[in-house]
Amino acid sequence: MHIRKLRLLTPGPTPLFPPAIRAMSAPDMHHRTKDFIEVYKGVVADLKYLYGSDNDVAVFCSSGSGAMEASVSNLFTPGEKVIVCQAGKFGERWTKMAKAFGLQPVVLEKPYGEPVEPEQVEEALKVNPDATGVFVQASETSTGVAHDVESMGKIIQKTDALFVVDAITGLGTMPLDVDGWGLDVCVGGSQKAVMIPPGLAFASVSEKAWKKREKGGNRYFYFDLKAHAEGGAEGNSPFTPPTSLMLGLGAAMQYIREITREGLIDNAQQLARATRDAALALGLELFAKKNPASSVTAIKAPEGKDSGLVVKAYRDEFNSIIANGQGTMKGQIFRIAHLGYFDFHDLFATIAELELILAGIGHPVDFGKGVAAVQKVYAEAAGK
Ligand SMILES: *Cc1c(COP(=O)(O)O)cnc(C)c1O
Repeated sequence: MHIRKLRLLTPGPTPLFPPAIRAMSAPDMHHRTKDFIEVYKGVVADLKYLYGSDNDVAVFCSSGSGAMEASVSNLFTPGEKVIVCQAGKFGERWTKMAKAFGLQPVVLEKPYGEPVEPEQVEEALKVNPDATGVFVQASETSTGVAHDVESMGKIIQKTDALFVVDAITGLGTMPLDVDGWGLDVCVGGSQKAVMIPPGLAFASVSEKAWKKREKGGNRYFYFDLKAHAEGGAEGNSPFTPPTSLMLGLGAAMQYIREITREGLIDNAQQLARATRDAALALGLELFAKKNPASSVTAIKAPEGKDSGLVVKAYRDEFNSIIANGQGTMKGQIFRIAHLGYFDFHDLFATIAELELILAGIGHPVDFGKGVAAVQKVYAEAAGK
C-alpha cells in the first residue's frame, strides 16, 4: 500500500484553502452579534473587491443556482421575452429557469464546444426589440468554453435589456469589468474560485437592474435580491446566514487580496494554458473549438476510448477526482480544473499522471512531453 492523498481536481467543488477550513471550525457565532456583523460587512467588501465593482452585492445561503434563480425571479416578470445564450448544460439551466418563471426565452443555441457569438446577440436584440434581458455564462463549465462577455456587454449596454451573467466559474478566472462592460447582474458561487465549500451564492446588481425591479410584478420571497443586498451592506442578512462559510470566505478573501484579483486570474490562465499545451503535446484534442476557458479545460478522450476510463484511473490509481463530461458529453471528454486553489505543483502531478493513465488505456505516449509543456509555461510564468 502507498499513501494516496485524496485530491479534488474538479471545477466545483474545488480544493479548499486550509486557513479557510480552520476559520470555519471557529467557535459558534450568533449572526446578530456585533462581531458577526463585522464579519459579514467585511465579506461583502471583499466580494466587491473580487467583482472590481461598486455595485450592490447580495449573498445567499444556497448553491450558485440560487443566485441565478434570484436574478430571474426578482428582475423579470412572467410573459417577458428574454434572450438566452445556450452553449452547454449551464446555458440550458438559464432556459429552464426562464421557463419556470413564465418568461419567454429566445434561445441562441450553439453546439457543445462552441460559444454564442456577440453578433448573434446583436442580431437577436434587433429582431426582438422587446427583449428585456440577455442571459449568458461567462465560462460554460460543461464545455470549457468562455463567452466574449465584453463585446456582448457593449452591445447590450446600448439597449434597455439587462445583461445577466452567470460568472460562477468566470469570477477569478477571467477578466470581467462589471461596470465598464455593463454586467447588470454577475453571479458567483463559493465552491469555485473562492476556495471554500458549497453553500454561498453571490450576485452583484447594477442601478439599471434595480430600476427595472422597482416596476414590480415579480414573484419571490426567500430569494429577495434587494433584502439580501441591503441587509448585507449593513452586515445583517434577512435570514440566518451560514456563519461558518462566511468566516471561511473572509479567510480565503484575505489570501485573494494578498495575491490580488489579477493574480488569481493570471494563476488560472497560466494553468489553463499549460494544460492545453500539455494535452496537445500528448496528441489529444481540446473540446473547445474556440475561446477555451481558463476555469476548466475540457479534453477529448483518445479516439475510440471512453473518457470515463481516464476519470476512473485518476480515482483508482491516484485518489484524485477529475470531472467527466455532463449529459451527452459524458464518456467523450474529461475536464481538468484550474479555478481557485490550484498551483503548478498540482498541474505537474496531474499531467505526469495523465501520461501514465493514457499509456495504460492504450494511447501511445511519448513520456515527458506533457510535463515538458507544463515546464515551458511555468518557466515563462516565473520569468525564467
Ligand atoms: C457550478 C456552476 C453553477 C452552479 O451550480 P450549483 O450546483 O448551483 O452551485 C452554475 N453555472 C456554472 C457555469 C457553474 O460552473
